[in-house]
Amino acid sequence: MSSSVQKALGIADSLKSVSENALLDTELLLAHVLGKTREYLRANNEKAISSDCLDQFTKLIERRKRGEPIAYLIGRKEFWDFDLRVNSSVLIPRPETEELVEKCLDKLDGRNDSVRIADLGTGSGAIAIALARASSSWQVHAVDISEDALAVARYNAASLGVGNIEFHLGSWCDALPEEKFDLIVANPPYIEARDEHLQQGGLPFEPIVALVAEDSGFSALDEIMMGASQLLKKDAWLLMEHGYSQQKKLLHKLASLGYSEIEGCKDYASVDRIVLAKLNLS
Ligand code: GLN
Repeated sequence: MSSSVQKALGIADSLKSVSENALLDTELLLAHVLGKTREYLRANNEKAISSDCLDQFTKLIERRKRGEPIAYLIGRKEFWDFDLRVNSSVLIPRPETEELVEKCLDKLDGRNDSVRIADLGTGSGAIAIALARASSSWQVHAVDISEDALAVARYNAASLGVGNIEFHLGSWCDALPEEKFDLIVANPPYIEARDEHLQQGGLPFEPIVALVAEDSGFSALDEIMMGASQLLKKDAWLLMEHGYSQQKKLLHKLASLGYSEIEGCKDYASVDRIVLAKLNLS
């Protein structure tokens, strides 16, 4: 059956139950299949679509209807000022995590010496790459426990021409080289295993290892706060993203571990989301 761009986009209505952006999603999927931009679709409404493309498009629409996130269907996600390759072995980078990058840059403002940074649980490499691109004199160490995730992060760094990241396979601080760091950042798993959000939206499609942590979601955060306290230079910073109900406990824990200038921040949606703290001890 022959179809046109306009006719194909008509299927958007069928996505309304899974997506608030049904038309945008439909355009992104069709543009992806055709290897064109959304602007092209607008300017070429009447253009015929081959049955092969229509077939691929319909399959993607079916997957979207089952809740699979657009980023996995098209294999990429915008983050900061670049595009990342993503697949189901990495978490889809969120806008909240861009705020974490902003705060890291704030803390490193103006430094163009050989700053040493660690990104723990790098996933797609989003944070590590954003920081590494900010200054070629900074050396970033990106850690992940998943070999498949590291492959994605390596691919992203290479395709963006970022050379100042070293990748390490392993668990949080244990995977880092011994020399101390100026800044450690992490967006670790922090959701409790029985949290009902895990069944909602696109979360069931994302890697559980990047989302869920033991001890009510605190185990990775705790390990990082403790590990970082041994690995930060004097006056160096730790910044972590966390879940909506975890901030108070994290602020206490940071104080008890000897951190100072401890701060809790909200994200753009006014949800507690980031803690940061300085280590005065050497
Ligand atoms: N912020 C993500 C979410 O709630 C979870 C990310 C994480 O666990 N690090 O969807």
